Amino acid sequence: MRGAVLHAPGDVRLDTRDDPRIEHPTDAIIRLAATCVCGSDLWPYRGIEAVDGPVPMGHEYVGVIEEVGAEVTTVKPGQFVIGSFFASDNTCEICRAGYQSRCVHAELIGAIGTQAEYARIPLADGTLVATPAMPDEKLVPSLLAASDVLGAGWFGAIAADVAPGKTVAVVGDGAVGLLGVLAARELGAERIIAFSRHQSRQQLARAFGATDIVTERGDEGVAIIKDLTGGFGAQSVIEAVGTQESMMQAIRSTRPGGHVGYVGVSHDVTLPGDELFFSAVHLHGGPAPVRRFLPDLIDRILTEAIDPGSVFDLTLPLNQVAEGYKAMDERRAIKTLLQP
Ligand SMILES: [Zn+2]
Repeated sequence: MRGAVLHAPGDVRLDTRDDPRIEHPTDAIIRLAATCVCGSDLWPYRGIEAVDGPVPMGHEYVGVIEEVGAEVTTVKPGQFVIGSFFASDNTCEICRAGYQSRCVHAELIGAIGTQAEYARIPLADGTLVATPAMPDEKLVPSLLAASDVLGAGWFGAIAADVAPGKTVAVVGDGAVGLLGVLAARELGAERIIAFSRHQSRQQLARAFGATDIVTERGDEGVAIIKDLTGGFGAQSVIEAVGTQESMMQAIRSTRPGGHVGYVGVSHDVTLPGDELFFSAVHLHGGPAPVRRFLPDLIDRILTEAIDPGSVFDLTLPLNQVAEGYKAMDERRAIKTLLQP
């Protein structure tokens, strides 16, 4: 089959890879209906994360089951399925508490690489959620978004304790931040302040429910959040970048007693203990347990209550994967959908 392989920073190619096969009786093989490039794929693409030889890429996926292992009972060939970027058994104590991304048997789908024609999905019973019927083609991008960025934005909002009547600020205008805005709206936030300095992203943030846009960042941005909230700061802040600056911007934008939900993959973030102590904020986050939210998110998508697929502003055939990465790296695209 054909699949994306990162050979070195900036060098992603569509190579011929081995066809996946059932390796464990709990596996399923899916034929990808759509896949995409994640903001987190840009870390190794930009060389910020080390690239250790040629590595398969991609961890977001929707598709149709081709084959299942002997022990798989809850999904079957022919079904359209969505899963998270972590495979999980969904039965261990951590999973049952709602933290499937930290399942005791968790496996990273990124190591398998779903920017490809086919993929092996481990722990299929726990990982995959089937739609009741073959979904309408137009809903496929939104279902694909549920595989990672929507689930991550949703977890950011839940971790930030978003609730009706609250004021929410969102740090980061990538796909996760924008879908954090959508999640905040769905969870009833009264006011949603999005940090963004890019016009196309500001427009999408407003379409997803942002009531205010702040173009300043760092301490200047924090000062504006304070101005907008009677000097207090926001009650809920979603952090969707993962840098030192964005994390401090999130903590400083939060009022005492408020909540920070951090879902940007942390890169060299160091928190000053004294400032954290006196901030009196709640911090919660980490790799989003997308599997927890999938049934609810799929239902909202199939009933067309939400349209998270509009984060995809570039659609390319899989053989143009290199351009898909380049467009996101140069911020010409928010998120690239790839058609196998
Ligand atoms: Zn588990």
